[in-house]
Amino acid sequence: MPSAPLDDLKRLIRDVPDFPKPGIMFKDITPLLADPPAMHRLITAGADAHRGLGVTRVVGIESRGFLFGVPVALALGVGFVPARKPGKLPWKAVRQAYGLEYGNDAIELHEDSVGPGDRVLVVDDVLATGGTAAAAVTLVRRLGAEVVGCAFAIELGFLGGAPRLDAPVWAALRW
Ligand code: AMP
Repeated sequence: MPSAPLDDLKRLIRDVPDFPKPGIMFKDITPLLADPPAMHRLITAGADAHRGLGVTRVVGIESRGFLFGVPVALALGVGFVPARKPGKLPWKAVRQAYGLEYGNDAIELHEDSVGPGDRVLVVDDVLATGGTAAAAVTLVRRLGAEVVGCAFAIELGFLGGAPRLDAPVWAALRW
C-alpha cells in the first residue's frame, strides 16, 4: 500500500483530545482540507490506488466522507453516491444500524443508487472501529452491488477496524 510517501501530510492532521467525548483523540482534518496541494496529492493517491478495478460508483459516508468521496469519484470519472444519516434522503432508502467509537447511529442509501453490476469504492475520512464503514459495505451488498474496496484519509489501526470490513482497505495516513 502506497501510504508512506504521504506520511508528511500527517502534519496537517490536528489531534484534539477529549472531543467529542472524554477519552477520544479526535483527528481534525480541517488543516488538510485547507491545503490544496496536500488535498490534491491525497485525492490523486486514493484514486490511483483504485484504478483498473472497474469502479463504477463511489459511496461516500456522511458527512466528512463526502469531502473525500466526491473528488475521488471525479478523479476516477465515476458517479458519487451519498450514504446519509437516517431521514435525510428524499427518495426510497434502505437503512443499516451500527455502533461506532463514540455512540450508535445508522446510515441509509437510496435503493436505486447502486445495484447488480456496480463495483463500489466506499470512502470516509477516518476508519476507527470500522462500524460505520462496515454498515456502508453491508448496505451496498444488500442492494446487490460489489464492494471492490474501502478508502480512508486516516486509519486508526489500533482500533482494529480493517478486519471488520471484509473488503480491501486503503488508507493515506495510518496511526
Ligand atoms: P468508526 O465507525 O468507529 O470506524 O468511526 C468512523 C466514523 O467516526 C468516521 O465517519 C469518522 O468521521 C468518525 N470518527 C471516529 N473516530 C474518530 C476520531 N478519533 N477522529 C475523527 N473522526 C472519528
